[in-house]
Amino acid sequence: MSGIKIEEIENIKRGVSWSEIKNSMKQQGCPICILISQSVEKYFKFLLYEYALDATVQKKIQMSFGLCSIHTRILKDSEIKLKSDGLNISVLYENVLKKELKILKQAENKIKETNAKLYSIVKKKADLSNYKKVITSEMQSKAGCLGCLNQKENESFYTHEIIRLYADQEFRERFEKYNVMLCRRHFIFLVNESESKEAIEYFLKVQQQKISELYTQLTDFIEKHDHRLKSQMTDVERRSWERVLEYFG
Ligand SMILES: [Zn+2]
Ligand SMILES: [Zn+2]
Repeated sequence: MSGIKIEEIENIKRGVSWSEIKNSMKQQGCPICILISQSVEKYFKFLLYEYALDATVQKKIQMSFGLCSIHTRILKDSEIKLKSDGLNISVLYENVLKKELKILKQAENKIKETNAKLYSIVKKKADLSNYKKVITSEMQSKAGCLGCLNQKENESFYTHEIIRLYADQEFRERFEKYNVMLCRRHFIFLVNESESKEAIEYFLKVQQQKISELYTQLTDFIEKHDHRLKSQMTDVERRSWERVLEYFG
């Protein structure tokens, strides 16, 4: 059996997500953050290219009145990457905008009715708050952002895949490398989702080592600002503050 074939079999044994997880660990940062951001980008491209007119997608995006601010930015980037002039987004949002207009018109009519009835007493604070509700209640989103929903699903999927792989030797070798570090949020999530004490102990040990290493680099970076030590500063130390931000942010 050739070496390539053995490698292929090993890959299959590790599950369908292995090649994605392996690739994410070749990059700098938290593998779960990398995997979910890749998945959301893929999902948005698909959404814009194939599903902008799909009835289920249309219903969901109308219920949530578009996306959250982070995913709106990513969606816009996806449209640009598709080299579209904005037609996909226009088709996706046309009915959301139509619904918004309808709600605003209805609010205007309701306010006219309220004015006719309550003109003299609307100065009271409670009345004013009811008055505001006439406008805002229908404007509240009735569903979560499509990007956040996709992110949540993938966050759970990849975290469970990483937990499943924790005892695998090749996984460990890659996971323990310097460039890989779970962010704080995903470390906590992974611990909460783990179902064995051994897995938790393994991830805790690796995380503790990585944070300890990062702390040394950060303090060395600060110390080496002394002009006598500046020439000794390494690239890893120069980047340490960025890694700290990645970890906490
Ligand atoms: Zn993360
Ligand atoms: Zn979102």
